[in-house]
Order: sequence, then structure tokens, then C-alpha cells
Amino acid sequence: MATKGHLFIISGPSGAGKSSLLSRILKKRPELRYSVSYTTRPPRGDEQDGVDYHFISEDAFRKKIEAGELAEWAEVHGCMYGTSAKYVDEALAAGQDVLLDIDVQGTKRLVVRYPEAISVFITTPNVEELKKRLMKRGTDSSSAAELRLKAAEVEMTQAHLYDHVVVNDDLNQTVSRLETILEKAYLNG
Ligand code: ADP
Ligand code: 5GP
Repeated sequence: MATKGHLFIISGPSGAGKSSLLSRILKKRPELRYSVSYTTRPPRGDEQDGVDYHFISEDAFRKKIEAGELAEWAEVHGCMYGTSAKYVDEALAAGQDVLLDIDVQGTKRLVVRYPEAISVFITTPNVEELKKRLMKRGTDSSSAAELRLKAAEVEMTQAHLYDHVVVNDDLNQTVSRLETILEKAYLNG
């Protein structure tokens, strides 16, 4: 029987660089499975349905909650986000390693369900840099960016809940640090 896979939770304030980091690591390590979340938020920029998120209506999202299809879910910045229980359970049971990009509330719920999950908090050297990155990305309206910045300040106080905190200063170095965390998890079984 295959060994159970590892579950890696990536969190951090919006704009910290999680998507950039994940797309790099998934290219370098195609054996990793990325859990595509469900969300009620509309697509942003060139995001694709089924790749970045499964974009669904609030009604469809509520049905998933009622049917027990979500391993965790949370309301973030006024929209709902949730993780498919089936996707994660099947991948782990098949011995595959799974990466998730979820918020702090979701992490708290997920570590109850998967106590062996390894959690990594991605942050920026300071709040100014976070502001700069959110502006540079330019895919949020100014009110949405404002909301994300306010939430970021609260989220940054939660970093201590994570197994690892990685400051995403130079992206290449951040990719290497995440790879080191993955390697360490493999060595620990
Ligand atoms: P998140 O997924 O955490 O919301 P993104 O990956 O969308 O963040 O990154 C936000 C912006 O910051 C993007 O424009 C991205 O290109 C940029 N960025 C990501 N990592 C770095 C970095 N280490 N240094 C400078 N800019 C970065
Ligand atoms: P964004 O709208 O910028 O893609 O994501 C906003 C926030 O929602 C980020 O903090 C991201 O980690 C979080 N998020 C994305 N998917 C999920 C999910 O399935 N569950 C939870 N709890 N948070 C999620």
C-alpha cells in the first residue's frame, strides 16, 4: 500500500507572494498536487476556472457546506472560500503530497482534521512592501485592496500559529526555503 502523502498548508496576507511561490514550486516539482479551492469571488485578471479556483455561486457553495463536501471553509474579504475534502483525502490516500493556499481561519480548522499537516506562513519584510505588491499586482479595485491591507495587518499577528514563517523577500530564495521545508518533511516520514 502507498504511504500516505504529506499535506502542506501555505498561508499569508494577500499580496505576500503565495501564488507566485506556488506556481514556481509546482513547475519545479510536478509531482506535488495543488488543491484548487472553491470560491464565490469573481475571477481576477487572467484567472481560469478549475485552475486558480473553482468559481461557483453562493448558492452552490452553501450546498457544498450542507453536503459536507468541504474539509474547511471560511469567509475571507467578504467572499467564501473552501477546500474539497474529496480531493485532499483521495490524493493523500494515494500517497501524493498536497499543497493548499488557505487563510488563517481555514488553517485552524484544517489542522484539527489533519493534525500532521505542515503549515507555512508567507509574509513580506514589512507592511509597506505588502502595499507595494498589492498595488503592483493591480488586479484589485482600490476598495478591495484597502480591505485586503486591513485584513493583512490582523493576519500578520497570527504567524506564530504556523510551523514555519518564511519572509518572501527574494522569490528565488523563498522557493528554496519552501523546498527545504518539503525535504525535511519527507525525511521525517
Ligand atoms: P498572493 O498570492 O499572496 O496574494 P501574489 O503572488 O499575487 O500574492 O503576489 C503579489 C504581487 O507581488 C505580484 O505582482 C507578484 O509578482 C509580486 N511578488 C511576489 N513575490 C515577490 C517578491 N519576492 N518580490 C517582489 N515582488 C513579488
Ligand atoms: P485571493 O482572493 O487573494 O485569491 O485569496 C484571498 C484569501 O483566501 C487568501 O488568504 C487565500 O489564502 C484564502 N483562500 C483561498 N482558498 C481558500 C480556501 O479554500 N479556504 C480558506 N479558508 N481560505 C482560502
